[in-house]
Parts: sequence; structure tokens; C-alpha cells
Amino acid sequence: MSLSLQRARRTGIAVAALLVTAAVPQVPHAQTTPIAITDVTVIPMDRERTVPGQTVIIQDGRITAMGATARTTVPANATRIDGRGKFLMPGLAEMHAHVPPGNPTDEVLGDILFLYVANGITTIRGMLGAPYQIQLKDKIASGALLGPRFFHAAPSLNQNSAPNPAAGVAAVKAAKATGYDLMKIHPGFSRETWDASVAELKANAMTFGGHVPMAVGVVHAMRTGIATIDHVDGYLEASVRDSALFSTPGTTLGDVIASVDPSKFRALAQMSRDLGVWNVPTMYLWENFYNDLTPEQLAALPEMRYVSGQQVTAWMTQKRNRALADANQAMTPERRSRYLTLRREMLKTLADVGAPLLMGTDSPQMFNVPGFALHRELQVARTAGLSNYQVLESGTRNVGRYVRESLKQDGAFGTVATGQWADLVLLDANPLEDLAHLTRRAGVLVRGRWVSAAEITAGLERIAARHAASRPGNN
Ligand SMILES: [Zn+2]
Repeated sequence: MSLSLQRARRTGIAVAALLVTAAVPQVPHAQTTPIAITDVTVIPMDRERTVPGQTVIIQDGRITAMGATARTTVPANATRIDGRGKFLMPGLAEMHAHVPPGNPTDEVLGDILFLYVANGITTIRGMLGAPYQIQLKDKIASGALLGPRFFHAAPSLNQNSAPNPAAGVAAVKAAKATGYDLMKIHPGFSRETWDASVAELKANAMTFGGHVPMAVGVVHAMRTGIATIDHVDGYLEASVRDSALFSTPGTTLGDVIASVDPSKFRALAQMSRDLGVWNVPTMYLWENFYNDLTPEQLAALPEMRYVSGQQVTAWMTQKRNRALADANQAMTPERRSRYLTLRREMLKTLADVGAPLLMGTDSPQMFNVPGFALHRELQVARTAGLSNYQVLESGTRNVGRYVRESLKQDGAFGTVATGQWADLVLLDANPLEDLAHLTRRAGVLVRGRWVSAAEITAGLERIAARHAASRPGNN
């Protein structure tokens, strides 16, 4: 059965082309003068509501006061931002980012991090670990590099790093020693290796998440304490009518899709909820894997100007190769469509039963431009039937909760309240009415550092200009 092989192949997507960049936007420093956003409508995200007529004071990176405009004192030295007609909400999160491996320069990283900030994303979880990321997290936290709050997963457990239980245990010990925030799981290793590695992870108080290896299965993964299931991985495989498929030589992905019984989704979703297992759906990437759009159509999306031409070309090749793989996997147009429908049904079932969700896209995998992909992800979640509030919650309040409860770190963000970190987005229109309003940004606050719409536009234009010469048609 080649499902896990397929997954293994698509995990190594080249990010090299993203690394072709030159100078970077200015290095910011922590802002110490207070900021007052006056007379704004707050979307606190503690529950579904808006609170009009608020003035919010921000100092030293945090919200220090918030209340009715008439009763809230603005410090004399504060920078005032007129919030009339605007909406202030928590920043969003990309919980399955691939921050480049290797040893990229601050200039390269600056661009990628800026793409997130420019899109209102104030937290990312890096799921492709590399040792330099330990320092990167500190650099961002200190304000030496402008970027979203960063959490890092260790280099993954997979068939190469964990070919046997002893190797899995050794990889976990190394991850702990390096200081990563969590362990990333890739497919391809055995249940014995899983069990030994999980025991070691627990002994080291490390959480783990990502893919679900075929030999482990989503039920065993949940029962043994996986913290996040990414990509809706394992749920469809656990819902087939005929589980003998997986031990039958020559079984294709198409056979599996044809055998999925959606009536089994609910029990799995309830298990996720009852065991407190988070889900990072990354729907948009699978839409692009299996939709009918051509490589040319995807390459024409407006956000492609913020990555290099080499990157776009690589993505186009990947989309073409997927069409070939689909033929080998008996993925007819009907089965591709069914696959996407089943994934959306699974997501909707998770949301319906109250299983915890976290927003994520897996950028910069195929046609997922960092930051921009998240806004496409939200639209897929909406299409799946989630409410706007459910979608927003998965990228705000839930993220703070995950960081506090699962990572056991400072998760004082994701809601708008006094004492919280000022990781915020100021919008010209209400995103609870339409998620597309999330792109109408007046500015973003990253730990209290104000990044205005003008600075966002200028930064994006610098990045686009650096990539312009490499775009197809320009050489
Ligand atoms: Zn990943």
C-alpha cells in the first residue's frame, strides 16, 4: 500500500527557491512608547461577540488597559491610532509552517517571516525543525527580527530517522537535548518504534504531532497521546469498509477512497474531542493536490509574485507530477472530488462534535505562499461548513490554549484582554461577517510593535521586486 509512500514523497518539497533573496526590511526594535487604539470595535474571541466603543492601550508588548473610550485614559505620550469604524482582533496563527531547513540567513528568514506578519499572522509553529531555529525563536522574541511568535518542532521521526525502536528513542533524546518545543511525526515507521518513541517522549515531557504512520493508525495514535493530528491524517484510512485493503498488494489510493464510510467519522471525531487531541487540517494543500485547476491557473494566483519564479516553476512541476501519480493510484476525477468532499466532511464532523481545531496550511508546500495560503485555507474551512467564528477561533483563542495546555509555555495571546500580549490585527471590516475582511488590514501588532498597512505594502513590494526578474515570462 503506497499511501504512506506518497506522504513521504510530498514532505520533502524544495523550499530552496524561496531562499533566493537579497536585502531585507529594516530590523525593528521593541516599541516602548505606549500605543492607544481609540474608539475601536473589539472582537475579543473569548466568545462570539463584538464590543464597540473601546480604547485599547498597549505598552511593552502587552495590552495594559482596555475599556469604554470615555472612561479609558490615554497616556500623554501615546501614539494614537484612530479605531473608529475599525475592528481589533487577535492575530492569526499558522500552526503547520515549514520554516526552511539548513542554515538560511536572517535576510532570507526576514522575508518569510514578513509574509506571515503582512497577512496578520502573529504565531507560527514550525514543523520542519533545524537547530538554528532555537536561536531564531529567541531573536524573534527579543525583537531583533520582526516575525510571528515562533514554536519549533524537532526534525521528524520517520522511516529514516527511526528505522527501529532504539533509533526512535535516540532521536527523541537528541530532540530534547537540542531544546525543541515538540516532536514532529512523519509517516513510515513501525508501531513498535512508535510505542518506544512515545514512551521516551513522555519521559521527557515532550508532546508530539503531525502525520499518523499507517502502521500506527489514528486510533492508536490518539490513545497513546498524540497532541496534534495534522492534515486530517489517518481518519479516512480508519474509516474504510474493508480494512483488508491495506494488506492487499496493489491497493491504490483510489481503492481506499472508494471504500471510505463517512458514517465512521463521528466516533473518531468524538475520540479526538474526548482525548483532547488537536487537529491542524491543512485543507487548502489537499485541494490543490486533487482539484481540477491546471498548474498554469495556480501559477497565475496573485500571491505568486511574493515567491521566486524558481519556486513557482517547481510547484507547477509538482502539480503535473501529481496528475501522473493520480493515474497510477486509480484516482479518477470522481475519486479526486470524493476525496476532497470526504476531507471536508471529516473537518465538519470534528467541528460539530467540538474536537479542538488549530489553523494551518503546510506552507510553503505546493502553491502555499506563506501567509497568503492561510486566507485560502479559511475559505476551504468555510466551504466545509464551519462558521466564521469556528474558523477564527481555530487561529486565535485555540492557539493560546494549545500553547498553554500542550506545550506548557506562555500562551497569553489569542484573545483581546488586559494583560494579554499585543498580538493583534486591526481591520477595516468585521471578519465575523465575512472572512475575506481579514485581508482588509489597517495594521498588525506583533508583541506591541505596530506594523502599519503602509509598511506592509512597502515590505511586500520589496519582496515582489526581488522576485520579479525570476518570474516565468521575465527571462
Ligand atoms: Zn509538515
